[in-house]
Amino acid sequence: MIDEIMPRLYRIIIPLPNSPLKELNSYVIKADDRNLIIDTGFNRTVCFEAMQEGLRALDIDLSKTDFMLTHMHADHIGLISKLVTKTSTVYFSRIDARVFDKDISWQPMLDYAVINGFSLDDLMKALHNHPGFKYSPETIPEFNLIDDGDLIKIGDYSLQCLLTPGHTKGHICLYDEKKQILFSGDHVLYDITPHIESWSYEVNALKNYLESLEKIRNLPVNIVLPGHRNFFTDLKGRIDELKKHHQNRVNEVLEVLGKNTMSAYDIAAGMTWDIDCESWEQFPIAQKWFATGEAIAHLRYLESEGRIKRNTDQKIVTFSAY
Ligand SMILES: [Zn+2]
Repeated sequence: MIDEIMPRLYRIIIPLPNSPLKELNSYVIKADDRNLIIDTGFNRTVCFEAMQEGLRALDIDLSKTDFMLTHMHADHIGLISKLVTKTSTVYFSRIDARVFDKDISWQPMLDYAVINGFSLDDLMKALHNHPGFKYSPETIPEFNLIDDGDLIKIGDYSLQCLLTPGHTKGHICLYDEKKQILFSGDHVLYDITPHIESWSYEVNALKNYLESLEKIRNLPVNIVLPGHRNFFTDLKGRIDELKKHHQNRVNEVLEVLGKNTMSAYDIAAGMTWDIDCESWEQFPIAQKWFATGEAIAHLRYLESEGRIKRNTDQKIVTFSAY
C-alpha cells in the first residue's frame, strides 16, 4: 500500500506479521537524478514482496536509489542487502554501525542477561526467537557513516541528521527545516511507545532517551513521519506523553521493588505489560527478553538518579531501595 504524503514523497507500508508493531513505514523520496528510501522492513519474503510492489508502482529504479537507515533494528534494515545496488549509497549512523563490527560478539550481552536473572536455557530460546537474529540482512553493505548534523540532500529535500540515542545507541532522526518534516524513526511513535531497553551496564538508555526527546521537542514541524503506524503533527504533545509514560514506569518499578531486594528479571515479572497473557510464565520468551531489557533500562536510570541501589556481591545482581 502506498500513500503520497506530499509532492515526490511517498510511504510504502511494509507488513510485519506476528510483530506487535504490525507494519513498517518505508519512505520514498523521488527526485530527478536519485531517489532515497528511508528504512526497509525485515528480511522476509512478505516484506520483500510488499516493497517490490511499492517500488514498481512508484516506478523506482534501484540503480538510481540511495538508502538511509534510521537505526540498526532488523525491521528497519533487514531488506537492505536485497535492495542495494552497486551504485547505491547507504547512509547509516556511525554509532549503530559498530554492532556490525566483526569483533563485537553477543557474549557480553548474554552474560549481562544471566547476571540480571535470566536463565541460560531461556536465554538461548529467546535469542533464536529474536527478530534481530531471524530477519537481519544476509550481508551488511558498505555504509556511508553519518554523524549528528550531517545533511542528506535529495531533490529539493534537505535532511538534517539528528543523533537521538535511546531506542538504540546511534538512532538518527531526519529533519527538513524548510519543509518542517521530521522523519522520527522509532524515536517518537504516535500509536505505540518506543521500546527502550538496556543490555549493558555502560549504557543509560532511558536517560539518553529522555535527553533525545528534549533535543527535538521544540522543532517546528508540519508533520512527523514515524517508523511505524500513523503520521502525526503534535510533536511536543506526543513527547510530553512519552515522558509521562516513562515517569509512570519508573514509579511502577519502585512500587514492585518496594522494600524487597530483587533481580531485574523478577522486577520485570512483577510489572504490567500490554500483552495477551495471563501470567509472566505464559509470556513468549522473546517478550520476556524485551520486558527484562526494559526493566533494566528503568533500573539503571533510577540508580543513576540515586533512588535505588544495585547490589553486585552475589552471582545475580539485585536492586533495593535506599
Ligand atoms: Zn527499532
